[in-house]
Amino acid sequence: MTISMQGKRGLIMGVANERSIAWGIAKAMADAGAELAFSYQGEAFGKRLEPLATSVGSDIMVDVDVTDDTSMDAAFETLKDRWGTLDFVVHAIAFSDKTELTGRFINTSRDNFKNSLAISCYSFIDVANRASKLMPDGGTLLTLTYQGSNRVTPFYNVMGVAKAALESTTRYLANDLGPQGIRVNAISPGPMKTLAGAAIGGARKTYKHTDMNAPLRANATLEAVGGTAVYLASDAGACTTGEIIRVDGGFHVLGMPQPDHLV
Ligand code: NAD
Repeated sequence: MTISMQGKRGLIMGVANERSIAWGIAKAMADAGAELAFSYQGEAFGKRLEPLATSVGSDIMVDVDVTDDTSMDAAFETLKDRWGTLDFVVHAIAFSDKTELTGRFINTSRDNFKNSLAISCYSFIDVANRASKLMPDGGTLLTLTYQGSNRVTPFYNVMGVAKAALESTTRYLANDLGPQGIRVNAISPGPMKTLAGAAIGGARKTYKHTDMNAPLRANATLEAVGGTAVYLASDAGACTTGEIIRVDGGFHVLGMPQPDHLV
């Protein structure tokens, strides 16, 4: 069965470059026939995004800092003017001060806690609020999480707390928006080589550890995450909401490393 997103229009938030998870999702959705708009954070990212957006036939790019209401208002106003309605939004946005993604969690500062939660979690609520007003016939909201939300992952620190809040947010939004036919889900990939991924202390070791030990002996790929996003945002995922879907080679089922890698 080929899953189609023909006739669906949506906003992709969080493409920083061609290694971004959001880009893997955008490509898969465009291949499935979806029409896309993109948001980017500031001019430099905008320049990198432009050729990528053009390559999938998109001519809608909006500059959005999710902590800035004016830019959020302007972005959703642009989408309303251009399309009138919206079928899906992909929220692939997270941030923490890099200096707190290493060392001990107990040293998390109040300022970075607030900022990380605001950008990595609250923004999904804010996006959902705005997007749902453009979804009179239902739609889909997707976000990206990581299993550091419920399993301690060294150096993931405050981001683990932010992802736990984001996963809970996914369930609460799913309940609020379900009666309107809007489904809300999160994809939880294993470690991937992206800008945000590289900011986490020990990223290379985490990547290697997952690759060597996951049941599939493989890390997530942009294609695998993209395929999952297409399923969730298309009619194939019609009865799935409030779900956290892992795309991690099965790593989350392990209780300990594979025998060859035990020390
Ligand atoms: P990335 O660096 O390519 O993307 C992160 C994006 O967040 C960037 O486009 C950046 O501009 C955007 N962003 C940060 N602060 C913002 C703000 N204030 N306003 C607007 N945009 C802002 O990295 P990625 O790994 O593709 O991250 C996408 C999502 O996937 C994140 O939620 C991340 O936590 C999640 N995730 C990543 C991994 C991994 O290992 N890379 C694993 C699981 C989940």
